[in-house]
Amino acid sequence: MEGFDISRLVSGNEMEEDRIINLSLRPNLLDEFIGQEQLKENLRVGICAARQRGEPIEHILLSGPPGLGKTTLAHIIANEMGSHMVATSGPALERPGDLIGILTNLEEGDILFIDEIHRMPRVVEEFLYPAIESFKIDFVIDKGPYAKTIKFNLKPFTLIGATTRSGLLSGPMRSRFGFFYHLEFYSPEDLVEIISRSARLLDVEITTEGAMTIARRSRGTPRIANRLLRRARDYAQVKGNGVIDGDVAGRALERLGIDEYGLDDLDRRFLAVIRDVYNGGPVGIESIAATLNEEVDTLVDVVEPFLLKLGILRRTPRGRQISEFFDKFYVR
Ligand code: ADP
Repeated sequence: MEGFDISRLVSGNEMEEDRIINLSLRPNLLDEFIGQEQLKENLRVGICAARQRGEPIEHILLSGPPGLGKTTLAHIIANEMGSHMVATSGPALERPGDLIGILTNLEEGDILFIDEIHRMPRVVEEFLYPAIESFKIDFVIDKGPYAKTIKFNLKPFTLIGATTRSGLLSGPMRSRFGFFYHLEFYSPEDLVEIISRSARLLDVEITTEGAMTIARRSRGTPRIANRLLRRARDYAQVKGNGVIDGDVAGRALERLGIDEYGLDDLDRRFLAVIRDVYNGGPVGIESIAATLNEEVDTLVDVVEPFLLKLGILRRTPRGRQISEFFDKFYVR
């Protein structure tokens, strides 16, 4: 078990080993993107209409927990539109100056992808408004009496913003998007398809039962499914005959501390704190974070969404509360 941090194995956040493998597993076309049927249908219409008009597609906001395919979709949109994509992220854009080079280099129809767009500083956000509204930017050079404002016309492009928390996006920013798509957690059936496809690409043999075992424990998240598939592949290679069947997958994941619902150690500690320290809640997220010595953002982005989906946790105006289904899921 050395070599990786087990506590983060079922987090949707990207780890270093994901980055390398993901490139080879990432679907390139809308037809290869599994699940999210409603979203794909809407997107197909949007892409088709924009192509017929010969215009860039309207600005798009993608929201949903980490690892559900927001970056993948942005790449797919660029491919389907036959354009290039430039990727950056909210926290990387510290000053308006960080955007000038990126914006002025965009060709007509290019996609500018900004991940974690809710974490973009306000000054950068305001600088971006005229760029996405009318494809113009104003920037000031020099200081004091010599200061000059330069106006620059940009080529029409599409902004695709991704966010794990659309609620944190400012109203003015939100209103500038033409399309809003929310990605939902995937069903076990969709994940089986994703796992089988990835296994084919990784050239590893997996049975339907093996794929189902991994799918059920992947918290509805393709990135986690791909990660657990790789762990099961290692286990099958070292302890078995290389084939991932239900038994091998089950044993591999058990060893990693992931239970049959995909809950890991951090989930269990999170739930135990609410139950044992705060009498089942309601309790504020800051108090839970302080007790666990974890970041609030990690808990809100990575831990809570899936517990809410399972129905094991409730969000009330007075804080977080465990639900009456607690005993069904909390095995220990
Ligand atoms: P996000 O940007 O939402 O954090 P990514 O787009 O990076 O998530 O997706 C993580 C990985 O999961 C991708 O590299 C891809 O291999 C896989 N993936 C995501 N969605 C799908 C899907 N619908 N079908 C197949 N693979 C997917």
